Amino acid sequence: MLAYVYDEQGKLSLKDMPRPTAKNNTAVIKVGACSICGTDFRTYMHGSSKITPPRIIGHEAVGTIVEVGRDVIGFSKGERVAVAPAIGCGECYPCQSGYPNMCDDLQTIGFQFDGGFAEYMEIPEIAFKMGNVNKLGSLISDEEASLAEPTACVVNAQEFLNIKKGDYVAVFGSGFIGCMHAELAFRSGASKVIIIEVSEKRIKQAEELVPGIITINSTEKDLMTEIMDITEGRGVNVAITACSVGKVQEDALNIASKRGRISLFGGIPGSGKGYIDSNVIHYKELSVYGVHASTPLQNKKVLDWISTGSLKVDKYAKNIYPLRDIEKAFEAIKGGDVLKAIIKP
Ligand SMILES: [Zn+2]
Ligand SMILES: [Zn+2]
Repeated sequence: MLAYVYDEQGKLSLKDMPRPTAKNNTAVIKVGACSICGTDFRTYMHGSSKITPPRIIGHEAVGTIVEVGRDVIGFSKGERVAVAPAIGCGECYPCQSGYPNMCDDLQTIGFQFDGGFAEYMEIPEIAFKMGNVNKLGSLISDEEASLAEPTACVVNAQEFLNIKKGDYVAVFGSGFIGCMHAELAFRSGASKVIIIEVSEKRIKQAEELVPGIITINSTEKDLMTEIMDITEGRGVNVAITACSVGKVQEDALNIASKRGRISLFGGIPGSGKGYIDSNVIHYKELSVYGVHASTPLQNKKVLDWISTGSLKVDKYAKNIYPLRDIEKAFEAIKGGDVLKAIIKP
């Protein structure tokens, strides 16, 4: 079968790989859709130290079960499923506390298990055991379901932020994640959602996708002056960094109101040192939150929202590429033409 493989030399390429078969405790899906994540894009550009090669990448996978091991309970051939990729061990303290995404021995599809940029994918035993396999109803498409995992990461971040009616929320970056943060902030009652971006092309995209947002091009306008204008001089209640630029972490602290909440959503390359001024946190009584991945329950929550129509993601599911054109998809993302690309093998 055709698959997109990360090799020992740190290179990605399309290869012919053996089709997986189900063991007693695993199942195999025919991949229906697998979307390209910012993490995949970073691997495409710079490689990744977190992947054990050789590895088929892609972790936002959805498909139909074509083979199921005899010891897998509750799943059968023909069922459509989405796999939440971050899989806990179930034994350690974070897992026992209900945060398997914080597992001491976290294993992730596309990193330690073969992923969804392939015609078929094996679902490991531990994914069934930990509840990472969510069944899909008929009201959600494979493409929409493949957007549940990145959205679940946004949910994870916003569960810390407690966005309330009337809040002013600022989001740095207008990629899929930035737009989703804006969508969910409105959903929680935010009265103003401001997206801060450096690319005019992406600002236009975001304005079309998320009606009602206010945008600031921070290369053309003074960010602080603009924010103070929009927020009657008080700053934003919530600031979210949805891009991989260290400098915006400092900006996020500065534009926050007193007692503001900040989510450092986007990981930054390198050591991460040297951006945050702790005195700003101290004197403004800021709360700064980290976030990593998402839990199976957060994935299920988003799948339910999409299935019931209470969260509409179909407008984000328009850029579809066959697996053989996956590099065209990466290049389109690189050029800024595509917000979110979905691979349909
Ligand atoms: Zn992802
Ligand atoms: Zn664990």
